[in-house]
Amino acid sequence: MDSATLRLGIDLGGTKIEAAILDARGAIVWRKRIAAPRNDYTATLSAIRTLVLNARNDISAAERCSIGIGIPGSQSPIDGCVRNANSTWLNGRSLKEDLQSLLDQSIELANDANCLAISECTDGAARNAQSVFAVILGTGVGGAHVMHGQLVVGANGIAGEWGHIPLPWMTREEFNHPPCWCGRSGCIETFLSGPALVREFNASGAEPVGSAQEILRLAERDHAAAVALVDRFHDRLARALAMAINIMDPEVIVMGGGLSNIASIYTEIPKRWDKWIFSDVPAVTRIVPALHGDASGVRGAAWL
Ligand SMILES: [Zn+2]
Repeated sequence: MDSATLRLGIDLGGTKIEAAILDARGAIVWRKRIAAPRNDYTATLSAIRTLVLNARNDISAAERCSIGIGIPGSQSPIDGCVRNANSTWLNGRSLKEDLQSLLDQSIELANDANCLAISECTDGAARNAQSVFAVILGTGVGGAHVMHGQLVVGANGIAGEWGHIPLPWMTREEFNHPPCWCGRSGCIETFLSGPALVREFNASGAEPVGSAQEILRLAERDHAAAVALVDRFHDRLARALAMAINIMDPEVIVMGGGLSNIASIYTEIPKRWDKWIFSDVPAVTRIVPALHGDASGVRGAAWL
């Protein structure tokens, strides 16, 4: 295997770190997933180092792979330190420099939603679309905007970031929502992320759950609190995406992150969003799951 054409991508998520090596045609030739250390920057660095060493061990001469890493946040234009990460222990850290010295190799770092967008626009569900909004619904909520095949970075490096905008058209009850880690209130992330769903469900007085997947399984079995929460989730996601359409008006909205596996999103949201979209005809925007599914984050990171 010619290692010069291999690319290692790492998707640093809130609950897992995934790594994959792509060959020149974009085929995954190596893949590994581990649990992400929480609230510990040093452990996060050493987990990434272990993954890279594993990759170098398993693929001969893989030390010449390029390395790209997707992170839940972005780099400050002033000092390159991580900011805006819901994995808050990364914020203010010089992650790129620290990893480069640990790995003895230069790396590329980018926002995880940008990685999803790059992956899905390169050879995924949004291939050939002129304008794309890529959304991450997972431990956090993020977004990225692509126009004519180019990622829109933005003057402040935050284009497409919709997780920390207030949920639009809030109900009276929604105004009394718990505050966000970012210091503001009403952020979309506090309604639509996996931990947000768990927190809201557990506050309802029902038997507590540990994950959003459990809530979905309960909803399938007609558990009243779970069914009601999933209905609110659909309604809120429809409102939040209608707002994004009113601003960016994309052809395609491509969904990634753990909650993008909820199949009902793709039938329920288009039924509900028209009344919030500032148009006189039904929206033609398509909402689709990431073609590469869970692998889109690592694929986009590798393409960096
Ligand atoms: Zn926030």
